[in-house]
Amino acid sequence: MIRFLDLQAVYRQDQSAYDAAYRRVMDSGRWILGPELEAFEAEFAAFGGRRHAIGVGNGLDALALALQVAGIGPGDEVLVPAHTFIASWLAVRLVGAVPRPVEPAPGLYNIDAAGVEAALTSRTRAVMPVHLYGAPADPAAIRRLCEERGLLLLEDAAQAHGTRHRGEPTGGFGRLAAYSFYPGKNLGAFGDAGAVVTDDDALAAALRNRRNYGSAVRYQHDSEGVNSRLDELQAAFLRVRLARLPAHNELRCAQAARYAVRLAAAPDLALPAIPEGDEPVWHLFVVRHPRRDALREALAAQGIETLIHYPKPVYRFPPFAQHATAGRSASDELCDEVLSLPIGPHLGLDEIDRVADAVSAFCEGRPR
Ligand SMILES: *Cc1c(COP(=O)(O)O)cnc(C)c1O
Repeated sequence: MIRFLDLQAVYRQDQSAYDAAYRRVMDSGRWILGPELEAFEAEFAAFGGRRHAIGVGNGLDALALALQVAGIGPGDEVLVPAHTFIASWLAVRLVGAVPRPVEPAPGLYNIDAAGVEAALTSRTRAVMPVHLYGAPADPAAIRRLCEERGLLLLEDAAQAHGTRHRGEPTGGFGRLAAYSFYPGKNLGAFGDAGAVVTDDDALAAALRNRRNYGSAVRYQHDSEGVNSRLDELQAAFLRVRLARLPAHNELRCAQAARYAVRLAAAPDLALPAIPEGDEPVWHLFVVRHPRRDALREALAAQGIETLIHYPKPVYRFPPFAQHATAGRSASDELCDEVLSLPIGPHLGLDEIDRVADAVSAFCEGRPR
């Protein structure tokens, strides 16, 4: 059996460090807004080269709170990828704004600056590129465009902990960037958690305020806040996992490189393109095949787990159907062909080779 994800294996690899973090918090008697969160926020801000990281309850809240403190609301339009996890769109709706889809760039999974420019309208106030699968979404060019047009740039970096573009970390291009620490992400907690990063002192203060009932001083309320805090236990676990993140990301890069070599000649299989200057962290390794469902079944029959990220563009789901483009779109085509192969710190290169052999055999029409 080759598992797609195995978080118990990730826990066991560093069990004594996680167990020590657990003990430290249980002995401290501090559960919410304490020293572990402060330390994690400082460490995560430093990791991405930003002044502030503000821990929140999850990635969706990170996106919505970031939009809210930046003043995006009803009547505003936010450009989002058609091909992404639904949270990117839901965050826009949570602040009462309108999501407007951008189709993926030709040959890529991500949107690019040309696609953003083509989708702009007079009501566009913000652009939310998603660094999907851990690959940068043309952030330097999109930043230039946003600066020229006076638009807010908010990066959805939920799949891109440690990604770089032309040597610069993603999550540092926008005025704000939002992260998820959902367990399966490259940097994951053992529960729900998220963060917003920014260099802007005023936005950081507003985020700290909003996440905690609009309160900086107990029982004094300055804004209409919410309850969205990253708790002490999760912060302590995240500190352990953050220390391992560079090694885990390197491992993912080695696994992706191995897939690329072993699958280079597989007929009808499209491998992920890596534009010049991009340094993905391979949250997912996504291939395309015209007979994707048959490939997936053949792999499952050999005990190899795969997933589909994502089965439909967001506007094909009922809550967003009114935003659908007429006819068959680029993201419709992508969604019918994408398949995510196993990758991550629970796997060795020998297992990557076994997956690659099974994929090659299917593509070449060889029985197994
Ligand atoms: C995981 C994810 C989110 C949401 O994160 P949660 O912590 O699950 O709320 C948002 N955007 C993208 C692209 C994601 O992959």
